[in-house]
Amino acid sequence: MNQYDYIIVGSGIAGLYTALLAKGQGSVLIITKGSIDDCNTKYAQGGIAAAIGRNDSPELHFKDTIAAGDGLCDEQAVRILVNEAPDRITDLVNFGVPFDTLDGEIALTVEAAHCIPRILHAGGDATGEHIELTLSKKVGDSKIQVLEDCLATEILVEKGRVNGIKALDCHTGSIEEFGCRFLILATGGAGQLYKFTTNSDIATGDGIALAFNAGAEMVNMEFFQFHPTALRLPGVTPFLISEAVRGEGGVLRNVEGYRFMPDYTPQADLARRDIVARSILYEMKKTSSDRVFLDVTHLPPYVITTRFPHIYRFCLDRGLDITKGLIPVAPAAHYMMGGINTNNWGETNITGLFAAGETACTGVHGANRLASNSLLEAVVFSKRIVKRTVKETEAPRTSHGKEVRHSLGQRRVPEIVSAPSLFALQQLHWDKVGIIRNKESLTQAADILAAWQKSLPQPADRPSYELSNLILTGRLVTEAALLREESRGAHFRSDFPYRLPQWQHHIIWVK
Ligand SMILES: Cc1cc2nc3c(=O)[nH]c(=O)nc-3n(C[C@H](O)[C@H](O)[C@H](O)COP(=O)(O)OP(=O)(O)OC[C@H]3O[C@@H](n4cnc5c(N)ncnc54)[C@H](O)[C@@H]3O)c2cc1C
Repeated sequence: MNQYDYIIVGSGIAGLYTALLAKGQGSVLIITKGSIDDCNTKYAQGGIAAAIGRNDSPELHFKDTIAAGDGLCDEQAVRILVNEAPDRITDLVNFGVPFDTLDGEIALTVEAAHCIPRILHAGGDATGEHIELTLSKKVGDSKIQVLEDCLATEILVEKGRVNGIKALDCHTGSIEEFGCRFLILATGGAGQLYKFTTNSDIATGDGIALAFNAGAEMVNMEFFQFHPTALRLPGVTPFLISEAVRGEGGVLRNVEGYRFMPDYTPQADLARRDIVARSILYEMKKTSSDRVFLDVTHLPPYVITTRFPHIYRFCLDRGLDITKGLIPVAPAAHYMMGGINTNNWGETNITGLFAAGETACTGVHGANRLASNSLLEAVVFSKRIVKRTVKETEAPRTSHGKEVRHSLGQRRVPEIVSAPSLFALQQLHWDKVGIIRNKESLTQAADILAAWQKSLPQPADRPSYELSNLILTGRLVTEAALLREESRGAHFRSDFPYRLPQWQHHIIWVK
């Protein structure tokens, strides 16, 4: 078995950035299930948040993050996030990320629920692509070993300590073992749980399943963020229309042309994502339509073509000139706030096992993520992971606050249940575990998911491993949503529509 100091699973921002930092500390192997640039990072549009503007401060960034998190942020983790943000931006600039500038200074824009312009962007609306390509080139130049088309399938643990990983060679179908001192899961999110999602195909909750099966804790799984505005064109997979479009003055209208957001909240089109997503859903129901419209036709065309060249081109290629016509949009699953429970050094409860990026739950997002905080979280906590592996500094904080632990139990097997498939799973989540949930819909979903999990044969290839991982991740999301009998952040229960003080705690899952 080949031995490494660090094995990193995943090659998005969290995996690549960790690898670049770890390289100076020992041998590094990156395992990634597709090609190096297959990830969600590449699709990030809006940008990365950091309090670097003249009138901004970490304190203001802290306040906005805490407000978005709706009572469940880990304040210590948020302090770390906002205080370390400017230094991590400097690192990215030094790596060569070409952030857009204005008059010689990094340009900043505003996004929903940020009180001030603090979002850095690159290539207008192609921030993620620039970050991903810059970091992957750097990894290539640094001669870090990368195994592509290699899917991690099982974490090897001995006497409570990680000692390696099993992985499937997607070309030959053989399983290989790799040994390591430190294993970092940077496997991204699980948007593929849902029929409509902005996520790429890789977002199948693999890190959640790997870590859970190895005995790690999962937390905040009921909080899944739905982005309000994904393109809804027949035959086109949902494509994100960045929040920054509303930040620059875009407004939402229903199919009758009526501007509805001011009826729902004084923040109107710039309200929190969950509020905008639910308002859109209500309007779609009211008007019996599967979409609303985003209107930017009142903005000068050069603003659209220079600030959002990627969105403009994507729509134009599909016959829609957004400088002249309305953009059909609807909500889509976007970001997993919950994940592998980590402390403020990215450590899990298993010695030697770390998690970074979207698969981790560091506690910074609470019940709802503030726009553009996830790329930032990935770099801030990846840096701390590598620091921690080099030197045990201060004792880590071990909890995000009040917690209640649960295990997945048995469930009633429904009389008729279809065979598990990706299509059926995505439809089930969209219909029953979506933007608005209730006890009945969640119970139905939980029963079906448990039956599917029981009936699955041993996975043998990438699609069957991914389906199995999604079903387990879906069970954790659904069971947590069923337990939480209140509405908070991105989790909205029509049968418990208010936030309740007795639910001011985190739900943790252990095997
Ligand atoms: C359309 C879109 C727009 C977004 N816009 C923004 C934004 O403007 N600002 C912001 O802050 N955030 C944004 N986000 C969120 C942000 O992009 C992600 O949270 C972040 O990029 C996640 O980075 P990551 O490194 O954790 O995961 P990813 O970039 O998703 O990378 C995960 C990697 O893990 C690999 N992998 C997964 N499972 C396995 C396995 N079993 N074995 C081997 N490899 C595996 C994948 O192939 C991939 O390489 C956006 C997300 C989307 C989808």
